[in-house]
Amino acid sequence: MRIILLGSPGVGKGTIAKLLSQNNGSVQISTGDILRSAIKEGTELGNKAKKYMDEGGLVPDSLIMDIMEKRLREPDCRKGFILDGFPRTISQASQLKAILEKLGITLDYVINLEAPLNVILERLTTRRTCSNQTCQEIYNIRNNPPAEGNKCRKCGHMVVQRDDETQEAITERIRVYNEKTAPLVGFYQKEKLLRNVESLKADETFAEIKTLKI
Ligand SMILES: [Zn+2]
Repeated sequence: MRIILLGSPGVGKGTIAKLLSQNNGSVQISTGDILRSAIKEGTELGNKAKKYMDEGGLVPDSLIMDIMEKRLREPDCRKGFILDGFPRTISQASQLKAILEKLGITLDYVINLEAPLNVILERLTTRRTCSNQTCQEIYNIRNNPPAEGNKCRKCGHMVVQRDDETQEAITERIRVYNEKTAPLVGFYQKEKLLRNVESLKADETFAEIKTLKI
C-alpha cells in the first residue's frame, strides 16, 4: 500500500497510519520522525537539518525533500508506505510528485480524513500527555483519564495539557492547515488519487480504507 494521509490536526492520521501499518506492513513515515532519526544517526542531511533547528529556524523545503527522497529509497519502503501528515503544501506536493516519478513509484491513493470541527476540537482539547519525556503516554480526560491527582498510570509523573493542544493553539493550527494544506485536496483530486473517508471512529475508518481496492 502506497498512500498519503491528509486531514486536519486531530483528525486521527497518526492512529489510522499505525493501524494500517500493523495490518499490512507498510512503513509509517512522518516528517517529524524522519528528521529526528536523520539527526540521531548524524547523517549529512540530518546534520544540516539540526543546524537549522538549533538556530530556532524552520528546516527548508529543499532539505526536507532530500531527506524524504532518501527515506523512500530505503528497502523497507518497497513493501509500501503511509505518508502521515506530509506533504503540507502545494509546493511540497509537486516536488514529491517529481521524486516519486524519478523513483518509479506510483501512489495508490491520497486519503483525506474528514471529521466535523467540533469533533476535532473536542478530541484535541481533552487530550493530556504524560510530562515524562521518555514516557509521553497519551490520555483523554473524557474516555481515558489519568490516575488520581493527574498522575500517569504507567510511570507516575504528572499528566499535562501540551502547549499546542490548548483551545487557542488548536484554533491557530487549524487556521494554518486550512490555509496551507487544505488546497492539497484539490491538487490530488486533479491527480485522480483522492478518496474522502469519514474519521469518527478509528476502527470504522480503518475498515473503510481496507475496502479500497489497491
Ligand atoms: Zn508516564
